[in-house]
Amino acid sequence: MNNDCIFCKIIAGDIPAEIITQNNDVIVIKDIAPKAPTHYLIIPKKHIKDIASLTADDDKIAASMIAMAQHIAGDLNDGQDFRLIMNNGKSVGQSVFHLHCHYLAGKKMTDL
Ligand code: 5GP
Ligand code: ZN
Repeated sequence: MNNDCIFCKIIAGDIPAEIITQNNDVIVIKDIAPKAPTHYLIIPKKHIKDIASLTADDDKIAASMIAMAQHIAGDLNDGQDFRLIMNNGKSVGQSVFHLHCHYLAGKKMTDL
């Protein structure tokens, strides 16, 4: 746990969030400022700064994030289409420096 990290505080239960589901490796919460009708954040419970900081030891975590996206789409959202976005670095939009994947669905998205 990183004491300065908002997602670590959510994972620890110190800050409230709308939790969709979770398992040993990842937690899924509703984004506080949704950009689509369905906008979840898939967050590993281990504090990792960004994609660039992942190591071979984290292979299971990255796989768990994708498996969680499959679970959300298939079991919770009726197989609807979805988009995953992961920002790495401030200049491309990362604002919380605890690895996370945006799960977006429920509207037409054609542009990048
Ligand atoms: P980033 O910009 O780092 O890719 O994504 C961070 C996301 O976290 C943003 O979409 C922002 O709305 C969301 N966010 C920031 N603080 C909180 C919070 O306290 N609770 C929740 N649920 N989402 C947050
Ligand atoms: Zn953290």
